[in-house]
Amino acid sequence: MKWSVSIGKIFGINFRIHVTFFLLLFFIFTSVANQRGTQSALLAVLFICAVFVCVLIHEVGHSLIGRRFGKEAKSITLLPIGGVATMEEMPEKPAQEMAMAIVGPLINLVIAGVLLLFVGRWTGIRAPSLYPDSASTFFAELIGVNIMLALFNLIPAFPMDGGRVLRGVLATKMNYVAATSLAVQIGQTLAMLFIFFGIFFNWWLALIGLFLYIGAGSEKQHVMLRSYLHQVPVSEAMTTEFRSVRPDEALSRALEHFYHGCQDDFPVIGETGVEGILTRDRILASIHEKGLNVLVRDVMDRNFATVESRMPLDEVYRRLSSSHKTAVAVVDGGQIKGMVCLDGISRYFMVQTALKHN
Ligand SMILES: [Zn+2]
Repeated sequence: MKWSVSIGKIFGINFRIHVTFFLLLFFIFTSVANQRGTQSALLAVLFICAVFVCVLIHEVGHSLIGRRFGKEAKSITLLPIGGVATMEEMPEKPAQEMAMAIVGPLINLVIAGVLLLFVGRWTGIRAPSLYPDSASTFFAELIGVNIMLALFNLIPAFPMDGGRVLRGVLATKMNYVAATSLAVQIGQTLAMLFIFFGIFFNWWLALIGLFLYIGAGSEKQHVMLRSYLHQVPVSEAMTTEFRSVRPDEALSRALEHFYHGCQDDFPVIGETGVEGILTRDRILASIHEKGLNVLVRDVMDRNFATVESRMPLDEVYRRLSSSHKTAVAVVDGGQIKGMVCLDGISRYFMVQTALKHN
């Protein structure tokens, strides 16, 4: 995610903090300092940091369970609204998805329980505010926040954990796509109720409803796309008319192809077959750094993926999005057959959807 800084690795997962978090801290510090003085402001900042640590432990919980099923988060970015994990893919086995989703809210309940055992006995739980005025209310409010985090995440609507739990439950009774559809329907109905009541009683509730409504829709679209692409072989969506370049050519030669066609990514074909891929980003960066006389072999992407023409398209989609690449070469028995790029896949999907509604 852009605009975020790395804070190091925990259990091998790269953690990042989004800059908006620091802006939030600054905003809270200045506004509380104006009203109640520096000491209260420092306590408020400390409180927000403590809440963030709780969110972080919640996310680590998801990731560690995910790792057990071989679905690991590459990195987790903490935003003021919570954590966003960059996953290669979510588990599609119902029991795994349920376990992975439920662990987050459970962790917040455990944190609340542990805090209650140690410090809550003499304070009682307090509704969270930004202004804990002493150490005892600080922990009482932290307990309140953790209970709220657990309940909020258990709302049965995507993208909340509760939505995933609901889909997991439904998926034990029906197939994954149907379960997603139904879970999205339930989530969106709930979101509409939030929006409706929110408009009359509380704007925050309406905003959350809107967020849930959009989140549910995009989850459905994503699952539909994946399941559709699963039935289509790579050969259907690959381009067979493409230009290639040689590794010993100068970049200036490759540039001519770049000008004269709409192709962005070029397979580099040497004596042993495909040796690399020359992407648009590489072409532009290399011209800037090394000039035009550099050889293609010195600037091409050697760490490229290839696929076979009979592979399902969703596999290509998964490989491209997890490696942040834009195109793969289609190679059958050492021979290049075509190229598939992300744009090509979405173009193919758009055409097929248009044909269906015709
Ligand atoms: Zn969660």
